[in-house]
Amino acid sequence: MKRSNESCKRALEEIAAEVKKCRRCPLHATRTKAVPGEGDPCADVMLIGEAPGYNEDIQGRPFVGAAGNLLNEMLRVAGLSRGEVFITNVLKCRPPGNRDPREGEIEACKPFLIEQIEIVQPKIIVCLGRHSARVIFGLAGWRFSSIMKVRGNLRRANMGGREVLILPTLHPAAALYNPRLKDLLVSDFRLLGSVLNNQKGLDRWL
Ligand code: URA
Repeated sequence: MKRSNESCKRALEEIAAEVKKCRRCPLHATRTKAVPGEGDPCADVMLIGEAPGYNEDIQGRPFVGAAGNLLNEMLRVAGLSRGEVFITNVLKCRPPGNRDPREGEIEACKPFLIEQIEIVQPKIIVCLGRHSARVIFGLAGWRFSSIMKVRGNLRRANMGGREVLILPTLHPAAALYNPRLKDLLVSDFRLLGSVLNNQKGLDRWL
C-alpha cells in the first residue's frame, strides 16, 4: 500500500537534502545547484531524464529550459500537468558542457533514483532518452539495445517487488529541432495518455 502523501513528501525532501550536499562524484565541484527532482510525491507517472542542463543547474529544477517546454507540451498531449507527475533525472548534477553522463557518475547517483522510485511508487515510468532507458532497463534486469528500437513499447517490470510499466521514449531535446522525432515523441505521449485515461488500458497491463 502507498504511504501517505505527507510521509512520501518528507522522504523525498530528505533525499533532496542529501542530493544537495552530495560529493559522491566529481560533478559536485562544477554544479551551481543540484537538481533532485520535483512533483507529486505519490504520482502515478514518473518521468526520468538524463541530467540537468544549463537552466536546470541555475534554477535547481528539472526540465525548465527549451527541452522542458517541449516536455510540458508532451504532458498536455497525455492529458497531464507537471503538478500531477514526478520528474527527475538519472544524474542530479549537470555534466560540464552538457556532455554525456559517465558510468561512474551514473553508478554514484543511482541510489538516489532507486530511493525516489521506491518512495513515489509510480505505476508508469517514462524514460526520456537512451541514458534513462538504459539505467531503467538495467534495474529491470533487461538488456538495452537502442532507444529507437525500444521507444513506444510498453513493458511490465518488477522493481523492488512491485509491478511497474516502463515506457521508453525519446529525449525531448532530441526532438526539439527534428519534426520526424517530434512526431514519434507525440505518438509515445498519446500512448501514455490512452493507457492512463482508459481504465481497461491500465488494468490490461498491471
Ligand atoms: N535534459 C534532461 O535530461 N534533464 C533536464 O532536467 C533538462 C534537460
